[in-house]
Amino acid sequence: MKLIPLPAFQDNYLWLLHDGQRALVVDPGDAGPVRQALADADLRLEAILVTHHHPDHVGGVDALRDATGARVFGPARERIPPPFEPLAEGDTVEALGLRFQVLDVPGHTAGHIAYYTPQFEGAPLLFCGDTLFSGGCGRLFEGTPAQMHASLAKLAALPGDTRVCCTHEYTLSNLKFATAVEPGNTRLTHYRQQCEARRSRGEPTLPSTIALEREVNPFLRTREGAVAQAAHAYDGADGNDEVAVFAALRQWKNEFR
Ligand SMILES: [Zn+2]
Repeated sequence: MKLIPLPAFQDNYLWLLHDGQRALVVDPGDAGPVRQALADADLRLEAILVTHHHPDHVGGVDALRDATGARVFGPARERIPPPFEPLAEGDTVEALGLRFQVLDVPGHTAGHIAYYTPQFEGAPLLFCGDTLFSGGCGRLFEGTPAQMHASLAKLAALPGDTRVCCTHEYTLSNLKFATAVEPGNTRLTHYRQQCEARRSRGEPTLPSTIALEREVNPFLRTREGAVAQAAHAYDGADGNDEVAVFAALRQWKNEFR
């Protein structure tokens, strides 16, 4: 099987998974790159998995459904282009012989879901939309800091070797912020150098892994003393409450250049 990040728009990836004959795509904001990839490899689109309702994630759904007859799956609590099969935590999706578990991960949007399969070519695989990014997380458009913190904690608890397929190539700017939060984190320094090299060669930094994100992503490290200290140096509060630390980090990141 192959896992391919198709670049779209400025910095989106439309994740395409295929077995040489059948394919699935996650969050096709644009039908064009997906149609091209299907035609190039002579693939039949079997399923479209949607994580949340934003236009850069659903913009190509209608055109791809019409052209291929693929089944569309999406969050039960959000409005995405109908018809689709509504999903929430505890549901499963079977596609390409894989079984995906659905996780509720509200915060970026109110009904955001993620798709997780425990075995794909020897390790788990996660499609997390705009919830977890490498080195960062999505903005809180519809959810509270407490919701997003809980959603990220749920993802951080997945097996360390889980490959994390995020929807945006935001890694370098996220790692710049992460370095401002934790200048003494040597794993972060090393990872940032690796990612700079990849980007200078025009390669994606993704997928990441959960184990790596636990070490470098400040939004998954709210219980670390150094992270709490830096967050509260920004907002002037104090204490170790993880949601308060998360909220301060998210606010700081929104204003960080
Ligand atoms: Zn979004």
